[in-house]
Amino acid sequence: MSMLESMRSYMRRDQVFEFLIPDTPPDLDITHGVILYLEGITVSFDGFRAINDLNLYIRDGELRCIIGPNGAGKTTMMDIITGKTRPDTGSAWFGQQINLLRMTEPEIAQAGIGRKFQKPTVFEQLTVFENLELAMAGDRRVWSTLVARLDREQQDRIDEILELVGLQELVRVRAGSLSHGQKQWLEIGMLLAQNPKLLLVDEPVAGMTGQEMERTAELLTSLAGSRTVVVVEHDMDFVRSIARTVTVLHQGSVLAEGTMDEIQNDQRVIDVYLGD
Ligand code: ADP
Ligand code: MG
Repeated sequence: MSMLESMRSYMRRDQVFEFLIPDTPPDLDITHGVILYLEGITVSFDGFRAINDLNLYIRDGELRCIIGPNGAGKTTMMDIITGKTRPDTGSAWFGQQINLLRMTEPEIAQAGIGRKFQKPTVFEQLTVFENLELAMAGDRRVWSTLVARLDREQQDRIDEILELVGLQELVRVRAGSLSHGQKQWLEIGMLLAQNPKLLLVDEPVAGMTGQEMERTAELLTSLAGSRTVVVVEHDMDFVRSIARTVTVLHQGSVLAEGTMDEIQNDQRVIDVYLGD
């Protein structure tokens, strides 16, 4: 099957339409060094407060880990940042100028916030290269993606991404035959192809081998700096291996924030999360 045919067979899947992204959001202003502001956010589902007066600030270029018990509101928080869920109250700003609560999901993605869900969602029928090629198309329309060739600069960027995520040797392999860990890296690569300033990554190492976890730690660490990375993760060894600042969510609010050592010695955190 050609790439074109593969793509046609996928046209009905929601994923494809994520690439139909509108143009020109206002520019990101991070002159104050903070890339994400969440203030006073509350969200209720059927009367249950999943997020409760949440205040969270993420500095530009940092690698932040978010931990907390099941149901603490971690995924809902990412849903709010990406426009999937609207809060009842509060504000959410991307830099100084971009009001996330006034934007649609595609507009937020276009503005430079990329999200990786827990389950890999690569196109299994396509090769590693084709997956990246498609992601690289970014804000171009799907149909022009199918006909247009990548220019030299885009090819070079794909090569860079392949190197970064360690999939150079597998560039012609169908994504469906990659290991679970390799699929996760490919999906991170697909996010990078869209050049986000802020990456949200939900439980990246669930189901990974120890060696895959180590490589994922290196990868996420290398992404921070030029980009900002927010990682939700349960695996404490993994968090320890990458964490600078750790935020503990509990019942929809920030319970504690600090270095891994501070967090692990915080009695409130031990009581609700680390105790057992
Ligand atoms: P975490 O990711 O920290 O495990 P979630 O953000 O998934 O937590 O969930 C927080 C709480 O909100 C949970 O009690 C969950 O059942 C509830 N919740 C999340 N999304 C919805 C929804 N769409 N409708 C109803 N309840 C929801
Ligand atoms: Mg979750």
